[in-house]
Amino acid sequence: MTEQPSRITTAIDFGRDGFQTGTLRVPYSHDRSGYGHVPIPIAVLKQGRGPTVLLTGGNHGDEYEGPVALAKLIRRMPDLKISGRLIVVPALNFPAYLAGARTSPIDKGNLNRQFPGDRNGTPTGMIAHYVVTELLPLADVVLDLHAGGASMDHLPALLASPPSDPERRAAYLRLAEAFASPYVMIADLLGEDRTYAAAAERQGKFFFYGEFGGHASCNPDNLRIVERGIERLLRAAGVLPGDLHPLSDPAVNRLIRVGGERHYVFADRPGIFEPAFRLGDEIVDGQLAGRIHDPHAPWRAPEELYFRGSGIAVCVRTFAQVEPGDCVVHLAADSSWS
Ligand SMILES: [Zn+2]
Repeated sequence: MTEQPSRITTAIDFGRDGFQTGTLRVPYSHDRSGYGHVPIPIAVLKQGRGPTVLLTGGNHGDEYEGPVALAKLIRRMPDLKISGRLIVVPALNFPAYLAGARTSPIDKGNLNRQFPGDRNGTPTGMIAHYVVTELLPLADVVLDLHAGGASMDHLPALLASPPSDPERRAAYLRLAEAFASPYVMIADLLGEDRTYAAAAERQGKFFFYGEFGGHASCNPDNLRIVERGIERLLRAAGVLPGDLHPLSDPAVNRLIRVGGERHYVFADRPGIFEPAFRLGDEIVDGQLAGRIHDPHAPWRAPEELYFRGSGIAVCVRTFAQVEPGDCVVHLAADSSWS
């Protein structure tokens, strides 16, 4: 059985030279709009010969450095001279982005947990299916820009997963280092394989994502890192002309790795979490992570949580209120590529 094409349509012609803007039309028939669709903005620039780079943000709707950097890039695209093709979707889960929420208000879908998606599913599943069947096959290099969203804050980190083939690996690492993020992180999502990253790796694409802040805010320092990184990545990929100048700032590309469960700290009861550390602190195994106060019995001694590994506190929960199972912090330790 041949796979049926996506139900999402667009007037964009990905094979045409020049600059185009338009929308991806996600069919969505509902009470207020029987024949309606969700129009996801997209921009494409194609010139000459070269690789295709797919740049996306708003996979989660409450993460803003990516969408803002990509909107600024789109407004420059008519004047850019490139070799290859740029496909830019600033807010992939557009309903979530408009709602300022991690998940879609339509179907509660968390896009980054819906890959490979569902052609006949709800809008979020249809978006994932479109990415897998239509956008990823066009791309050589993919960059998906995230941040911690409302519930987390993350040190600025490019997340990398290099291929094993030595030649491809060297080319991949050259792009990762060109981006020049303060941290380059090898992530560990504890076996999660329903992500965009997992789908891109199954197609053998050069996939990068990144975490650049949180608190559902747009951090200007991290935005600058993202904008600089996109520019440098496009130059290193040969899409934008010009040399890659060495940075005067040496504090880039510190390689860190998330080392499984021991690097995560989870709340084990409901309450109010008082952290005993700050984002970016160097943590040692056994150190106090914080205390959970019981709101119903303020006279009772709070429950203490301890770190079970060493490393940098790269991602912290922003909401003080916790339930059992909430991740309050995770670490990543200095690492190497081998
Ligand atoms: Zn995200």
